[in-house]
Amino acid sequence: MSEATTTREPSGVSARCAHGAGRATAPPHCASQVEPADFSALLGDEKRARDFLLDLTWPTGAPFCPRCGHRKVYDLSGERLRCADCKYTFHPFSGRWINNGALTSLEWLNLITLFVDECSVHQMKQRLGLSYNTVYKALTAIRFAIVAHAIDARQVLGRATGLDSYIKGSRLTGGPRDMRMDTIPVYGILRRDGLVFIDLVPGFQAETLFHFHMNFHLKLIRTGNLVYTDRYKEYDALLFCGNDSLPYEIIRRYDEKPYIDAVDDEFWAFAQERIKRFRGISCQRFPLYLKELEFRFNNEGRPIGEILAAYLCALVPTID
Ligand SMILES: [Zn+2]
Repeated sequence: MSEATTTREPSGVSARCAHGAGRATAPPHCASQVEPADFSALLGDEKRARDFLLDLTWPTGAPFCPRCGHRKVYDLSGERLRCADCKYTFHPFSGRWINNGALTSLEWLNLITLFVDECSVHQMKQRLGLSYNTVYKALTAIRFAIVAHAIDARQVLGRATGLDSYIKGSRLTGGPRDMRMDTIPVYGILRRDGLVFIDLVPGFQAETLFHFHMNFHLKLIRTGNLVYTDRYKEYDALLFCGNDSLPYEIIRRYDEKPYIDAVDDEFWAFAQERIKRFRGISCQRFPLYLKELEFRFNNEGRPIGEILAAYLCALVPTID
């Protein structure tokens, strides 16, 4: 975390982004209206913003070593700390998602507010006075923090999705690996009690769905690089995000809608509208966006800004 004070003007972000401009209605699940007053009250003061994030980092008030968990730590100069046991020297945010990106505490809270409001990267960069790359990297950290708190975090952050290739130690510094028909993962949409669960389907790749389509008549629908299926076992649909290497031309057209389009599923309407806005999304980053959609949908009406701040202050888990 950069400790440098900034001369940029972050207070302008208190005005909401007009992300709904030009549309008939605001997104049905936009949670900005329920942002608690005390969160937005922090948005003008670096010290208060930092204290708020430190409270989330050490909920009991006592610092501990991010490496071994030992609770006896020494204060060093420049806000550094040293573990009495393993001698690791660290900063308050070392080893945490929030340690990715050179943002001040105030910039993080402002960015979270704009993310909650579903502003575009372009809008965020203008409002925050930060570069496109800085905003993009920080948003990637937010999305990884969301995935890390999903019930299936271990699978989604693992090898099968390729997200593991972005994480080196506790830092997001890696790059995406190439994906082909036999490595592009498949996800399944499951609805239970008004909630949605987007599962990584073990052992399934894009190739599996093309095979089921050709040989077992599983209905496939393609819009851009997004491919989804008719109902399959307990899933309302299976889906993946492809790339230009796939044989889309073998997909047959159907007169009848697949199940998830026919039932007017509330989550699917919510997701499709947003997936269209994520135009140009890569198959490598697709799981990040899917889990973001799952998180937004399932937390409708909750103070997601505060939840995201807590997620960002959590330790990056060890990836197998
Ligand atoms: Zn330690």
